[in-house]
Amino acid sequence: MRILISNDDGIYSPGILALAKVAARFGEVRIVAPDVEQSSMSHAITSSRPLRYKRIRLGDFDAYRVNGTPADCVALGTYQWGNVDLVLSGINLGPNLGNACWHSGTLAAAKQAALLGVRGIAFSTSVSENKEPDFVPLEPYVSKVLDLLLEEKTMCLVNVNLPEKPRGIRWTRLAVGQYDGKVLPGKDPMGRPIFWFTVKPLDDEAEGTDRWAFINHWVSVTPLRLDLTDEKDLARALALHHAPAMSPTKVTKATVRARKKTQKRRLGVE
Ligand code: MN
Repeated sequence: MRILISNDDGIYSPGILALAKVAARFGEVRIVAPDVEQSSMSHAITSSRPLRYKRIRLGDFDAYRVNGTPADCVALGTYQWGNVDLVLSGINLGPNLGNACWHSGTLAAAKQAALLGVRGIAFSTSVSENKEPDFVPLEPYVSKVLDLLLEEKTMCLVNVNLPEKPRGIRWTRLAVGQYDGKVLPGKDPMGRPIFWFTVKPLDDEAEGTDRWAFINHWVSVTPLRLDLTDEKDLARALALHHAPAMSPTKVTKATVRARKKTQKRRLGVE
């Protein structure tokens, strides 16, 4: 099995080697990740300049750094390697819970895999300000989650959050009751106004959600889907209106002539 590994913290983040180490028990591993941190870049792709794919030494692994986003890395990595069976992303330094999934570059790498028809699993864990992350106690849980998910053939995209000292694994749903994004105003050294778009800690969430599991020291495993359609609203709209209320304005020859005349006048031709 070919397992491509990426992240959004950058190829030199310690979480990527921890994930590669576990993944190597399941198949052949290649690391393709951003050359610098791309956290909160979500599913951005680089379309205005070319990308570089440079081989580097990273432990015992075959690794490439890319001057792009997590989604770029997965697209380029699967193109270069071919026949990739599984894409793993992380282990991110910091959880990706609930609405944070909209911003997450870690999840976007897994999502890019799912868009390409390859299974994608994102891993994130907690970090603290004053100590280096210790991935060793998390390794058995990453391994167990992979055992579990490789059996589940239909899950194309899964978001996994590993708390410190887990007590077990729980299937969860996204916590979407609250949003943690917050703008914090401040001043630069010259006294000019600046702003940080940061997150505020959330801790009260309904049982069964990813945030609830994480806070209660369970490894949270959330199956996700790519289809964002609101089925309830769509069904209601379809029942109310048999056809969309707005039909396009009929464009006659006279309208076209009038439009051309206005355009010429604007350009100073007439
Ligand atoms: Mn990150």
